[in-house]
Amino acid sequence: MTQASSTQNLQADSRDHVLPPFTDYQALNAKGARVITKGDGIYIWDSEGHKILDGMAGLWCVNVGYGRQELVDAAAKQMQELPFYNLFFQTTHVPAIELAKEIASIAPEGMHKVFFTGSGSESNDTVLRMVRHFWACQGKPEKKWIISRLNGYHGSTVAGASLGGMKPMHEQGDLPIPYIDHIPQPYWFGEGGNMTPDEFGVWAAEQLDKKIQEIGADNVAAFIAEPIQGAGGVIIPPATYWPTIKKVLAKYDILLVVDEVICGFGRTGEWFGSQYFDLKPDLMPVAKGMTSGYLPMGAVLVGDRVAKVLTEQGGEFYHGFTYSGHPVAAAVALENLRILKNEHIVTQVKEKTAPYLQKKWAELADHPLVGEARTTGLLGALELVKDKQSRERFPGGNTGMRCREHCFNNGLVMRAVGDTMIISPPLVITCEQIDELVALARKALDATWAELKA
Ligand code: PMP
Repeated sequence: MTQASSTQNLQADSRDHVLPPFTDYQALNAKGARVITKGDGIYIWDSEGHKILDGMAGLWCVNVGYGRQELVDAAAKQMQELPFYNLFFQTTHVPAIELAKEIASIAPEGMHKVFFTGSGSESNDTVLRMVRHFWACQGKPEKKWIISRLNGYHGSTVAGASLGGMKPMHEQGDLPIPYIDHIPQPYWFGEGGNMTPDEFGVWAAEQLDKKIQEIGADNVAAFIAEPIQGAGGVIIPPATYWPTIKKVLAKYDILLVVDEVICGFGRTGEWFGSQYFDLKPDLMPVAKGMTSGYLPMGAVLVGDRVAKVLTEQGGEFYHGFTYSGHPVAAAVALENLRILKNEHIVTQVKEKTAPYLQKKWAELADHPLVGEARTTGLLGALELVKDKQSRERFPGGNTGMRCREHCFNNGLVMRAVGDTMIISPPLVITCEQIDELVALARKALDATWAELKA
């Protein structure tokens, strides 16, 4: 069978039998999915043999890069020893214990306990149930509202999608569920108008204060937010945002939930985004980089205040998943953390590759299409605009998708969120590879620009 016909057969079988996530099926079926066949380091290959620089680390998760034999070995060893057991009904196993201890050692101050899940969405479902249980245990069942942000992303389950602030998700199936409300996001480039970024950061944070007063602090259980919004378009809040949020929260007795599913495990150059922004979360949902995506796993890191109530006055917490703390996933996560530590990968991001990316990425701002080029850690975004001064977009709203196509065709995965291009490469990317990434991005911008002019 030729390579081409095998790709076509795979595409046909995929079309006939697979319903992929977040996909317009008609549009996909008209052209066929790209079949990815292998990965090594920061690169992936498709079934046609094209080598592609994975600027998204899979889905923000392959932090140590593809092809790490140590992770394969850790999984194989654990599969032979104990492929499955659960943490229900007063049992446990060594990988879960060791992993929880290891995570507690790198977590922000005052976080010592871990509730395991199978994904980021399950972590946020756990958050919703846990914060309500926490307040109910203390005789405050009415304290159940959770405030989140428009265009935030917290997963795709009913609770995850409700906590998230994605309008198109809410429109499918009557979401959000009750007792969840959303405030504006700190997206200066898109929504800052005539305010300076600093003014806008304060304004956006003050919306939390307004919302708490509107609902009544006695009814609000928690505020949940990503340190940097990922899926919303790598939205790095203005410098004034988190300090003002902290001031607002200090006025009320409300839990802070920091969704670290993307920022966790080194993405910002600190172990967690909370450490980068100096936040003291009560709960931290994590997933993705926990295993570098090699196996599905998530968790909620639980701060001392919540843990004390759960363990001393909570009774049974009627919540958990078959795969909570799955031993093979836990063994892989442990080995993944060992690699991150032994190879000093998080320090390397902070001291070397993140500053280098920041410098190189900023140079793209000279491109006629780019209205803003921003990064924090190894997260980056480019705003594609018609007019740099007014930040006006091109009509049609498909400039990002055009650019994404050019990227893929030139050998780069860069994701489009509307007309914002985003990257989140593996944390093992080197400075030379950052040069390659930025050159590929510029090539795609040139091709998009040429197309728009024509
Ligand atoms: N929270 C955040 C911040 C995320 O980025 C994601 C996934 N992109 C999730 C939660 C959901 O994670 P999962 O897809 O593993 O359910």
